Amino acid sequence: WAKADGRARWTLFDPERNASRMTRQALSSALPGAVERGEFVLDYQPIVDLGDDRLVGVEALVRWQHPQFGKLGPNRFIGLAEENGAIVPLGRWVLEESCRQARRWMLAHPGPPVYVSVNVAVRQVWDSDLVADVRRVLEETGLPSGLLQLELTESDVMGSAGRPLEALQALSEMGVGIAIDDFGTGYSNLAYLSRLPVRVLKLDGSFVRGFSAARHPNPADETIVTALVRLAHQLGLTVTAECVEGSEQADRLRGIGCDTGQGYHYAKPMPAHCIGALLR
Ligand code: C2E
Ligand code: MG
Ligand code: MG
Ligand code: MG
Repeated sequence: WAKADGRARWTLFDPERNASRMTRQALSSALPGAVERGEFVLDYQPIVDLGDDRLVGVEALVRWQHPQFGKLGPNRFIGLAEENGAIVPLGRWVLEESCRQARRWMLAHPGPPVYVSVNVAVRQVWDSDLVADVRRVLEETGLPSGLLQLELTESDVMGSAGRPLEALQALSEMGVGIAIDDFGTGYSNLAYLSRLPVRVLKLDGSFVRGFSAARHPNPADETIVTALVRLAHQLGLTVTAECVEGSEQADRLRGIGCDTGQGYHYAKPMPAHCIGALLR
């Protein structure tokens, strides 16, 4: 029995899947220490005004400089950090570093300052006092609250009663901007969102992709996005398009009145000093 069982398992054994599971476990257990050792860095991706291509903000995107595996993108570890709770100290570091950096840019460069947009996991709202953290970080760094935007996903705020809603309200009263990330991928309810203290919708890349007639023309996407942008504006929201990869997409988004854009067409995420160079 044991033998047969063992042999049967052997045929099912998938070394690749097993390796990736081991890597996941290794990464997961290394996360808390990695936060303490300061193994994370932030790249920043420009957000531009679609009307005049002016740089108006940047999104902070975290990377893990892993001693063994090299530079890892957030898709490799944010989910793990959310599972094991390391997202709380990691998210706090991201917030501090982003605000410090945005304040440095503000002081070093004359002209309209750029805001920094920081991704927040809903667990940061449940497992820590996000509002107190934000208040403290703004005080310590001296960044005006209007230069900080927090990004949450639709599912994190949809139907959110209690704590998340209270947090959004308090943050918004402080002057911090709230954006809905990857908008359109969940069960969107614009009427509901417009009653929350949300300022910006970040239109998910999957819609924006349909805007490139050269590659995957999708008239339905264009119809939906046009309607979404109009409705968002009527509800007093601003729209940022994610994943703008070509000039044709940029032109069409501008044509339908989309406010700001972000994507490889403008710039990839880059280290802080490159943003400094752009500002100069
Ligand atoms: P997101 O917040 O939707 O960020 C946008 C992602 O799209 C980034 O991937 C960015 O590099 C990528 N991107 C930007 N422009 C283009 C484009 O033109 N084409 C394509 N194909 N992709 C583009 P990245 O940096 O790998 O981040 C992935 C996700 O990880 C983020 O999605 C966000 O959900 C999460 N994340 C990143 N940093 C943090 C963080 O500090 N905290 C939390 N909780 N999540 C984070
Ligand atoms: Mg984001
Ligand atoms: Mg997004
Ligand atoms: Mg996205």
